[in-house]
Amino acid sequence: MRRTNSRTPAEFLEFGNRQVSVPKTETRAERVTQPPESSRAVLAIVLFGSPGSGKGTQAKLLSASLSIPQISTGDMLRAHVRQGNAVGTAVESKLKAGILVKDDVVNSLVAERLGQPDTARGFILDGYPRTVAQAETLCGLLKSRGTQELVIHLVVDYNVIIARLTGRRQCPVCGTLYNLNSRAPKVPGVCDLEGAPLMVREDDRESVIRERLDAYQRQTCPILDYFRQKGEQIHDVDASHDQPEAVFRKIVGLIRER
Ligand code: AMP
Repeated sequence: MRRTNSRTPAEFLEFGNRQVSVPKTETRAERVTQPPESSRAVLAIVLFGSPGSGKGTQAKLLSASLSIPQISTGDMLRAHVRQGNAVGTAVESKLKAGILVKDDVVNSLVAERLGQPDTARGFILDGYPRTVAQAETLCGLLKSRGTQELVIHLVVDYNVIIARLTGRRQCPVCGTLYNLNSRAPKVPGVCDLEGAPLMVREDDRESVIRERLDAYQRQTCPILDYFRQKGEQIHDVDASHDQPEAVFRKIVGLIRER
């Protein structure tokens, strides 16, 4: 029997002076009262977390429901590598080795991207900033455009991260992410949507994963202290065991509470 109404129940969330519908997440009793319209600024959602914490998945869910762009520096850098242009050639070996690209390269990519009109109502940063120098640049950019940041820290157990990264597969055509342990494709090795053979990202190999986690500990974690010292609230979200949709609902709750 066909279901006649398979739409997810939705409710409305004020975002950047506009209402958007999001999947229904909470009971009426848990719902948070919205602040007055005037106090709501355009928002930069900064998704912070180690490789494998689910930033990309959450960024895609948020982007679809809020109709604001996901800005992933990893995706931007991989696109340059595919195009084989000057930026791509300069960064290719770093990406393969899991080493961070120079701050000025990513800072200028982000500054240019934030100049595009689709960011006017807000945007989601995925994988940026990754060093304190990048965080400083970002704060300057946001201040100059009057955008307020909401820092979400996806907290995930180390062993869960390793399992996720080693099991991760991606469609080279549409970018859909799968995981052999938790979200396997219907036909092994093939994208459900495109029918294309799935790929393992070069930097999801075990030795490179270690390098990426190490870079995260050494270079990226200090950003948390940087934000705290600025008086910025960091919103920790436990993302170890819940399904992506449940993590997404927690994040939506935080956006609504701001
Ligand atoms: P990701 O897809 O975010 O895991 O990024 C993949 C790789 O791109 C990283 O291991 C780095 O080599 C590079 N990368 C992505 N974002 C940044 C950034 N904000 N700063 C420096 N390197 C980056």
